[in-house]
Amino acid sequence: MSGGAAATAIRHHPSDATLVAHAAGTLWEAAALVVGAHLDRCAQCSATVRLAEAAGGALLEGLPPAPLASDALQRAMGRLDEAAGRQEHPMALPGAGEPRLRWLAPGLRHSVLLRAPEEGTLRLLRVAPGTALPRHSHRGTELTLVLAGAFAEETGRYGPGDLAEVGEAVSHRPMAEGPEGCVCLVATQGRLRFGALLGRIFGALARI
Ligand SMILES: [Zn+2]
Repeated sequence: MSGGAAATAIRHHPSDATLVAHAAGTLWEAAALVVGAHLDRCAQCSATVRLAEAAGGALLEGLPPAPLASDALQRAMGRLDEAAGRQEHPMALPGAGEPRLRWLAPGLRHSVLLRAPEEGTLRLLRVAPGTALPRHSHRGTELTLVLAGAFAEETGRYGPGDLAEVGEAVSHRPMAEGPEGCVCLVATQGRLRFGALLGRIFGALARI
């Protein structure tokens, strides 16, 4: 009884509030890049964003023309492309051509693609199989898009295309799963909050 279900196996999506903010062009840039990369893979959320854009357009009818939100996203994607070029195409994962990721901690490598006070931090993170990040919470929202592999945490299991949106109140301990570990694109606002002493040392050393 497949009913011709689409091939997409994406089970975790951005919140409606995040999608509407994306449509309105008001998301911080790091988040907009992660959501944009999810939209490339998710027809369902793309439809929601188009609907929100249409609704917003209807509301704005009669107002003076303003730059489209998609301009901001395109500019941001351009910056990501530039960063990707410098990083030897970190998006082309996994497989051919290991991206130039810097050592962060045992089992963790990363590359910071964007870091700005108002726009958040965007990093590409590669987590080795079975490696967990120390338990932490956040000073703002964290958006994580899985590009390859999978990770699991208290809120569920996330595979390619899945987006984990975690608010300030959530404390979690993501762990990479499967033989290939996990490669993800992570947008964060502010520094992470580590509870345990070991985690605080990790956070200070890694500036994460
Ligand atoms: Zn989606």
